[in-house]
Amino acid sequence: DDPIADAEREVRDWAKQKASEIHTLQEQAQFRKEFLSNISHEFKTPLFATQGYIETLQDGLIDEDPDLAKNFLDKASRNIDRLGYLIHDLDEISKLETGTVSLIIERFDIHALIKECIEDLESKAEKSNIKLVFKGKSTQPLFVKADRKRIQQVLVNLIDNSIKYGKQSGKTTISTFSLFDQILVEVTDDGYGIEEKNLPRVFERFFRTDKSRSRDIGGSGLGLSIVKHIVEAHQQNVNVRSTEGIGTTFGFTLARASAH
Ligand code: ADP
Repeated sequence: DDPIADAEREVRDWAKQKASEIHTLQEQAQFRKEFLSNISHEFKTPLFATQGYIETLQDGLIDEDPDLAKNFLDKASRNIDRLGYLIHDLDEISKLETGTVSLIIERFDIHALIKECIEDLESKAEKSNIKLVFKGKSTQPLFVKADRKRIQQVLVNLIDNSIKYGKQSGKTTISTFSLFDQILVEVTDDGYGIEEKNLPRVFERFFRTDKSRSRDIGGSGLGLSIVKHIVEAHQQNVNVRSTEGIGTTFGFTLARASAH
């Protein structure tokens, strides 16, 4: 027993602990900086685009071309929609991150919820001629313990993405699998898929592949980070696998509830 050595060790441990706390704080600060700069970048793009379209219309240069004028108005309108998604999703993210959202855990039938979500999105899917199919023992109830509203949000986000990034006349399949004390829900599309190098990034805030940006598909790039937040707040997992040109599967787990 050497009291001096003990004291030294204590000081060293303390210093290590502090260094690691400082590191965490620095990371958080860096993260906030990046987040803010991302936000302003994401807002600027649609805002300046809208401004550009409107100014061109105001200049009256395309008065003789009503089709082009209409096209510019449509583009301006889509960019304003995008600002709307951004504001809505940012609000969600900040609520989820500051923990202002507390989960309301209840026991409910996940199969009934999936059917509801399919019904809600069916007309949107029809516009792209995409079929939404519920596979599995869909006639039987399957009980889980989770926040029903939040899980609905997860399902709607995933199914909505499968429509947005799916191909014309494609199909989205929603399936459930029983694991030991969990349920796995999967949403599979036969769309254009995600490049392997981008797979780890799709849950990042504001991440959108070049394809979805260039194809002018509406979205904030925040949907999947909201999904991840919600699933992880339930202490469950979300994952993705994809093959380019074949399709994508997003899966998340839920806590199983007793049947009675
Ligand atoms: P967004 O608002 O852009 O849809 P998300 O966070 O929901 O944002 O998705 C991030 C990006 O991941 C999308 O922009 C798209 O590039 C890609 N992605 C998401 N779901 C799919 C899918 N089912 N198929 C192909 N790419 C997808």
